[in-house]
Amino acid sequence: MISLAEAQEIVIGGCEPLKPVLADCRQMTGRVVAQDVVATEFIPPFANSAVDGFAVRAQDVSTAGIELNVLGVIGAGHVANYVIGAGQAARIMTGAPVPQGADAIVMIEDATVIGQTRVRCNKAAKLGEAIRNIGEDVRAGDVVFTVGSVINSAGAGVLAGINARQVLTYPRLRVAMLSTGDELVIDGAPLKPGQIRESNLTMLSAMIAATDCEVINLGIISDDESKLETVLREVALRCDAIVTSGGVGQGDFDVVKIVLSRIAQMQWMQMAIKPAKPFAFGKLTTSDSRVIPVFGLPGNPVSSMISFELLARPALRKMMGHTQNLMRPTVRAIVDKQLKRRQDGKIHLMRVFGAFEDDGRLHVRDTGPQGSHQLAATALANGLALVPDGEGLVVGSEVEVMLLGY
Ligand code: AMP
Ligand code: MG
Repeated sequence: MISLAEAQEIVIGGCEPLKPVLADCRQMTGRVVAQDVVATEFIPPFANSAVDGFAVRAQDVSTAGIELNVLGVIGAGHVANYVIGAGQAARIMTGAPVPQGADAIVMIEDATVIGQTRVRCNKAAKLGEAIRNIGEDVRAGDVVFTVGSVINSAGAGVLAGINARQVLTYPRLRVAMLSTGDELVIDGAPLKPGQIRESNLTMLSAMIAATDCEVINLGIISDDESKLETVLREVALRCDAIVTSGGVGQGDFDVVKIVLSRIAQMQWMQMAIKPAKPFAFGKLTTSDSRVIPVFGLPGNPVSSMISFELLARPALRKMMGHTQNLMRPTVRAIVDKQLKRRQDGKIHLMRVFGAFEDDGRLHVRDTGPQGSHQLAATALANGLALVPDGEGLVVGSEVEVMLLGY
């Protein structure tokens, strides 16, 4: 058996970022920038009003109670064709360009409108008050995103705001996924003796999509060697990674093992963790000479989920150019209910639910039965407690918890 860290080194270390491509700024959310993004435009592009109010000359409004002549109204998107002179003002809306001559805005709440063309300022105005200057947010020439930055929703907005139409970025991965097993039923048909319902494909497609990858769902491939080989070779031509579920253990009908051993360079691992002991990782060279990583997950649903989390997800993130937070964050939490286990030389990844309490600490409890086939308790968990080898942890002790969903 190898440690989890050794397995992660093999799997994550064995994957490299894909070649960057140009992408439309409107499709950048969740993606990683592959070249510094330099602004070529200013945000805002001109001095404009931060409030609804009156554009004035600060020197005219040095005390409260000054009255001014209103020359007109300036809405956002419109430019005044007059200059504000001594004793004059213009009604102005948020975002409208500050008219020539004006150098402060008196907000509407501090003004009293007198008839059609006069206004009284109930407060003195300060030079530059309520004016948003050109380039206050971004200046042309600024590096707004450096290589490795992850574009979130606000980032996508910034890219649109500076008109960065094409951004060099690491591509979103196309991840093919299949499940093996003659016992699996996917179409809702009544179960015949010995059959069970397939659950991993639904779970894994959600996990792959949540990793910001595109899913190619190949469905269930029956335990048939030649069929599996054909499917794998064909899909490798149109994907960037392959995830398989089932057939990586020691069973007699583990065709995944037979076929992948023949057509790819595979490493069959036994990790010192529970659940998710068996795992396979390898590389499949396609007929057009691309090298596709293959992640062979065990079929037991909880093992499948946990090995995707610990090995496949960080590797897929690395392939998409992520350099930070490849793994989920962990925090030291307080055990609120005894976490029982037996000594077996392995780290146990127990499914727990945690909540931050008044002491500022995360407090965790297990979510139910911890068997590798018992997905229902896993579904209630928001963390994996890394319970070290031994007899478990008593109430009040500390445990490292990996936060799922962060
Ligand atoms: P395997 O890894 O193929 O030996 O399967 C281990 C266990 O997981 C067996 O009990 C299988 O029936 C079950 N299993 C395998 N694949 C799936 C799946 N896609 N959905 C639900 N259970 C599965
Ligand atoms: Mg199987």
